[in-house]
Amino acid sequence: MTENYKKIKQIYEGKAKKLYTLKGHKDLLLQEFKDDATAFNALKKGKILNKGIINCELTTFLFTYLRKKGVRNHFVKQVSANEMIIDRLKIVPIEVVVRNIAAGSLLKKTNFKEGHQLAKPIVEFYYKDDSLGDPMISDSHALAMKIATEKDLKTLKQMAENINTILKPFFLKRGLKLVDFKLEFGKDKTGRIMLGDEITPDTCRLWDKKTNKKLDKDRFRFDLGGVNEAYAEVRKRILGK
Ligand code: UDP
Repeated sequence: MTENYKKIKQIYEGKAKKLYTLKGHKDLLLQEFKDDATAFNALKKGKILNKGIINCELTTFLFTYLRKKGVRNHFVKQVSANEMIIDRLKIVPIEVVVRNIAAGSLLKKTNFKEGHQLAKPIVEFYYKDDSLGDPMISDSHALAMKIATEKDLKTLKQMAENINTILKPFFLKRGLKLVDFKLEFGKDKTGRIMLGDEITPDTCRLWDKKTNKKLDKDRFRFDLGGVNEAYAEVRKRILGK
């Protein structure tokens, strides 16, 4: 029997997604992906052609793949081109960034040049707070703010490293270097930490394996041109369409 999911109320609108409650499913939400793109804490705004559809399809594919590899996540089912049903999580207000190659804000914290292959992946925590501009924090900041326990932080780090170990070869087989990416996690009703949010070219840096051409949101951030084409290219390499 096909489940019927009827949207009741929008409970959140972020920069790239909206969340709705569902009739008769209090532990689920509907996540809608938008074409809207923002950068630099929403100072720069625009739209990317078919981004909502591409990001919904990619997240569906990658979360299904990660689940098969044993990574707990919130994905339940794709229900339209740009909408999916997800488990309702209590979001941990920490963005977890994993880096394999130096790029972006790491260049301001270290002397690494862009493209430097890191000797070991770096995992960083950022406090999810737009009014503060999502600052980087250490474990002790997180503990002092009581936004996570020591055990939670260990789980976040282990899950992020494991996801990196799974996704790096996955992308490389499709001609893409996974330079860095951002993950978000939440707790389900039993208190277990699960991967949430999305994994898309909005949240990952992906470079062509041979040419290092950027195929992600950096094309939008830095007006590099070919933004729509880059998203379409990633879709083609991962989903074959
Ligand atoms: N990222 C993200 N959302 C954010 C900040 C970063 O998805 O609010 C992703 C970004 O796309 C990149 C990685 O996290 O793949 C590392 O980003 P970085 O810290 O270099 O910051 P940025 O250069 O994006 O400001």
